[in-house]
Amino acid sequence: MAKQGNIKISSENMMPIIKKWLYSEKDIFLREIVANASDAITKLAKLVSLGEAQAEGEYKIVVTTDEKAGTLTVEDNGIGMTEEEVETYITQIAFSGAADFLEKYEKAGGDGIIGHFGLGFYSAYMVSDNIEIFTKSYLPDAKGVHWESDGESTYTIEECEKETRGTKIVMHISAEEKEYLKEIRIRELLRKFCSFMPYNIYLDPKEDAKPVNTPLPLYAKQPKECTEEEYKNFYRETFADYNEPLFWIHLNMEYPFRLKGILYFPKVRKQVELERGQVKLYCNQVYIADNIKEVIPEFLMLLNGVIDCPDIPLNVSRSFLQNDKQVQKIAKHITKKVADKLIELYKNDRERYETCWNDLATFVKFGCIKDDDFYQKVRDIIIYKDLEGKYRPLESFFGEPVPEEEAKEGKEPQTVYYVSDENKQAQYIAMFKQAALDALVCDTYIDPHFISYIEYKNPTRVKFMRIDADVAGALKEADGEDKAIAEIFTEALKDRKVTVKTEKFKDASVPAVVNVSEFMRRMTEMNSFYGMGDAPLDVTLVVNTACEAVAAIKNAEKEAQRETAEYIYLLALMNYRPLTPEELAAFTAASARFVENYLKKN
Ligand code: ADP
Repeated sequence: MAKQGNIKISSENMMPIIKKWLYSEKDIFLREIVANASDAITKLAKLVSLGEAQAEGEYKIVVTTDEKAGTLTVEDNGIGMTEEEVETYITQIAFSGAADFLEKYEKAGGDGIIGHFGLGFYSAYMVSDNIEIFTKSYLPDAKGVHWESDGESTYTIEECEKETRGTKIVMHISAEEKEYLKEIRIRELLRKFCSFMPYNIYLDPKEDAKPVNTPLPLYAKQPKECTEEEYKNFYRETFADYNEPLFWIHLNMEYPFRLKGILYFPKVRKQVELERGQVKLYCNQVYIADNIKEVIPEFLMLLNGVIDCPDIPLNVSRSFLQNDKQVQKIAKHITKKVADKLIELYKNDRERYETCWNDLATFVKFGCIKDDDFYQKVRDIIIYKDLEGKYRPLESFFGEPVPEEEAKEGKEPQTVYYVSDENKQAQYIAMFKQAALDALVCDTYIDPHFISYIEYKNPTRVKFMRIDADVAGALKEADGEDKAIAEIFTEALKDRKVTVKTEKFKDASVPAVVNVSEFMRRMTEMNSFYGMGDAPLDVTLVVNTACEAVAAIKNAEKEAQRETAEYIYLLALMNYRPLTPEELAAFTAASARFVENYLKKN
């Protein structure tokens, strides 16, 4: 006779709440049931190793879908349960576990992470009308037990025939959740959650069936046992990225906490955006979630990787995780390992480091901005190209630090010039080269933020200035001021928003250059970054008195002076930015007139 019982906790009210809260994470029920099966096998394996139970063939978990019967079944050949154990672990613990879960979930304000963990067996009721358990304990003379409940108020328990030890969970899938009867859907879920579970999992096995999972994932092996090919295969299979990773870091530690995993540096496909990576978090080979920022520092999420950390308290809230010392230590450790790997590559294989730098730079710079510890570790290995195209450590461009006393009196640190676009700033670059001055090439989109950060971190060592911000200050030969010429240009350009300066440059071929102050430009860039529109920039025209065409202007007639000044201004402007349609039209008309006059005279 089947015994009947009432479920002690008032679970009638529990189900609707659980169903609603966890709606979007319903899929996890399968992980919970398969993880229980896996735990049951681990317990048995332990007893076998202690000689307290007999081994019986391959440890495995079999998942079966049956659309006709409307059932999804998970069967293991693990430790099994006696009748008392079913009463205790399922009717009491699993149900009270769920109640406990709800309470914690509520306390945590339903903030997500706990939904990834902690609901256990009970979660199967999110998709089932009714669940049956057939189980037989490993103990000698144990009898089969059959338990059944709708999860709301009552259950039955009785003896039954069961030949093999272990547990079979039969979920009678509810009408609205029929998707969980489809093999293809279950395969997808097993791949997502159970890929690395430690025992073979078979889905609707036929002859010669292959497991759907990899019971010994690469990351769980000792690094020295893994080949390069295996690392690449693992990457491809886990992230479905057919580009080869640049390199990887195999984490493997037991003390003071357990941490295993592999982090891959992917090739960056485009520079425009920070491409989000995927760091999958596992706990004892059971998948928890992707990109949990409380555990994995945000900037590391640009990488692809798997991290398995059994010591993370996952049945807690996000805010708890954030403040948990252990979790902080784990995050710090991962960051340190990443920095160490980069330093090792820099020291041992500079050539490869330089070839990879394009793909690494954004990650490293973003990491520095986000995490000062990381910056302190990698600051010596941040490299930039100079004007010859050679990589140099960033700090080698800096001058000596300004002594504190002098800094207090307002002495500025040495200016380091930079180029943001080698094509657009070609004229300035040519002038810099001729004057034997160097500059560094800052041409990734994160660089404007990064150099501000570097200035902020090194206030007495460096001040950055774009190569076109103050050419006069950088390159002047001798005092080239010429009041007469300055007046001619000022008068000719009085309708434009331009300040005129005269200077003498070594390069006599360039009549004038345009400067826009670093401060003004950064302000404007920042405004447009925050969507506040582009204010027109105040332009300074630096006229080169060493240039013949400029010197000759003094003797020209007034109208010719005006025309020439205007023309030289447009020419200089053109080397700074693309001309507007009106400017371009004026430039074209003036050019035609000049050509005509030239031809008439020759
Ligand atoms: P948790 O796994 O977090 O303890 P569950 O609600 O998932 O909570 O399960 C409650 C208990 O039921 C487990 O601790 C275990 O003792 C028992 N149990 C569940 N599934 C199985 C199984 N397949 N084989 C043996 N025991 C099981």
